[in-house]
Amino acid sequence: MSDSDCLFCKFASGEIKADVIFETDNVLAFRDINPQAPTHALVIPKRHVSTINDLTESDTDTVGQLFLAAREVARQEGTDDAGYRTVMNCNAAAGQTVFHIHLHVLGGRKLSWPPG
Ligand code: 5GP
Ligand code: ZN
Repeated sequence: MSDSDCLFCKFASGEIKADVIFETDNVLAFRDINPQAPTHALVIPKRHVSTINDLTESDTDTVGQLFLAAREVARQEGTDDAGYRTVMNCNAAAGQTVFHIHLHVLGGRKLSWPPG
């Protein structure tokens, strides 16, 4: 399913050009427009899924591919050994603002914990 009003679906289809770092048949990694760290990428499934709550068993392989793509982004950005963070926000209390799931990949600086 693709949502015709979904920005990240438009990135996935190529209708709108993203600053792509890595791509496979099923996932796309691109730079965040408002980076919170020297490396800040978003990894999305090309198939539209609004939130983590909407994932089904059929997405199991795709979710694994999101993390393999995050690993590849970190490697390409040279932040794999120093460390990096992956985050996926779900719904309002967590601060989700774009309702097409995306794994944030943040690296290149010391990241504090716990997050706000
Ligand atoms: P969320 O708050 O939903 O977890 O994260 C949404 C992310 O999408 C934010 O980090 C925001 O900067 C990013 N974002 C929003 N609009 C755009 C856009 O048009 N292009 C890119 N590359 N990132 C975007
Ligand atoms: Zn979408």
